[in-house]
Amino acid sequence: MYTTLDHYIDGQWVKPSGKTLEVYNPANSKVIGELGAASKGDLDKAIAAADKGFKAWRKVSAFERGKILRKAGELMRARADEIAKVLTQEQGKVLAEAKIEVLMGADIFDWFASEGQRAYGRIIPARADGVRNMVIMEPVGPVAGFSPWNFPVTQAVRKIAASLAAGCSIIIKCPEETPGSPIGLVKCVHDAGVPPGVVNLVYGVPAEISEYLIPSPVIRKISFTGSVPVGKHLAALAATHMKRATMELGGHAPVLVFDDADVDSATKIMAGSKFRNAGQVCISPTRFFVHEKVYDKFVGDFIAAAKNLKVGDGLDPASNMGPLANPRRVNAMETIIADAQEKGAKVQTGGKRIGNQGNFFEPTVLTDVPETARIMNDEPFGPVAVMLRFKDTDEVLSRANKLPFGLASYAFTKNATTATKVADALDSGMVTINHLGLALPETPFGGIKDSGYGHEGGIEGLQVYLQAKFVSHMG
Ligand code: NAD
Repeated sequence: MYTTLDHYIDGQWVKPSGKTLEVYNPANSKVIGELGAASKGDLDKAIAAADKGFKAWRKVSAFERGKILRKAGELMRARADEIAKVLTQEQGKVLAEAKIEVLMGADIFDWFASEGQRAYGRIIPARADGVRNMVIMEPVGPVAGFSPWNFPVTQAVRKIAASLAAGCSIIIKCPEETPGSPIGLVKCVHDAGVPPGVVNLVYGVPAEISEYLIPSPVIRKISFTGSVPVGKHLAALAATHMKRATMELGGHAPVLVFDDADVDSATKIMAGSKFRNAGQVCISPTRFFVHEKVYDKFVGDFIAAAKNLKVGDGLDPASNMGPLANPRRVNAMETIIADAQEKGAKVQTGGKRIGNQGNFFEPTVLTDVPETARIMNDEPFGPVAVMLRFKDTDEVLSRANKLPFGLASYAFTKNATTATKVADALDSGMVTINHLGLALPETPFGGIKDSGYGHEGGIEGLQVYLQAKFVSHMG
């Protein structure tokens, strides 16, 4: 399927010198490409390029940088069909979702193109006549970004667009499972006229790359999206080398459906959200706490919606849900569901792999799941929903907040007092009530507790690539 799977270093498409990795189509397990891994020598070239790129790029005005970012977004829109097709073939998600992802990537470029021009500092009133106390926001420097395979385009754009808008250069290691669509995206950046060295794209053995890039004195900032254990490891490495870090890690999102909710709307929104990208989403709703008065209706309708989904190749327009992105996810689903069943859970629908070709898995709904089941504590990162009953608001809030994760939370209620109470009490970086309001370019996206720190998107998404310099000037 692929024409070339090269790395992009110092403005050139290059063949890396490390070992070769195979890329599979998750819908049929066939090899669709070969990808070279970066060696230390390749990484040295990327580091030198990012150093040089930063020195030039920070001097380009935010206004001019914005023009290039906007152009990259325009090119992504023009090439959306082509990039989306590659994305579906390497990642599995249905083509309509892949296209939305690419178009969202273009919107992220637009947002940061403008936001870069608002990297305002401030003036602090001085104690002496003739003194100007100035806070100037400067780019932090070359960034090492690590983006994951669940949203290969938008997760990479968030890091590239924000870095570039702030005046930073970036070396981004994109996911080895899904290399083609990030290449399509970086081609847009190249064709938009980003100078050599400002963006560098590499692939390889993730641990080797992070352990080489993070300690490099050239790299000043780390941005990682992925699992909590890897995030903690990289955060520790960043701390050892005194590097700033943004950690966008896993979640285990609770959903609170109150007895006064519009249950039809809640079911429709949540069934769509749960099975989007086959549940491989860090903000995917997982623990559904449903008030006992509406439990039977919500759960019955949700199961019906899950049964109605057609699982198939993402390129087939009839498919509503594609395969899981890699065989690791199929194993993870089988293990976590078997564990729940052993502990007394009932599988109301789904629960099994579909066929023996590709990584297809049934949309799954579990009930009667005990607190001790692994799925109540570990992020499933797949198409599994857990239905739980509640009676009392305080009790459900304490159950929702019980886990060490704190990324996204959802609630459905028509009562404004309940909505305010829930928004205040939920221990998570993002709360959305009665609709899906998360993950827009202009809104901050990020977690608390084990879900990480720092934001992507919103004005906060730019600020994490800036550092304040204080200048006090007399005369
Ligand atoms: P994993 O923990 O092995 O990898 C997660 C991501 O981190 C991958 O993109 C991988 O390439 C990268 N990675 C792994 N080790 C690394 C290292 N030492 N240095 C730099 N990058 C490294 O798990 P996986 O099987 O690929 O994914 C499953 C889990 O990852 C899920 O359970 C989920 O929690 C998490 N995940 C989260 C997100 C997210 O959006 N927050 C995205 C993808 C995966």
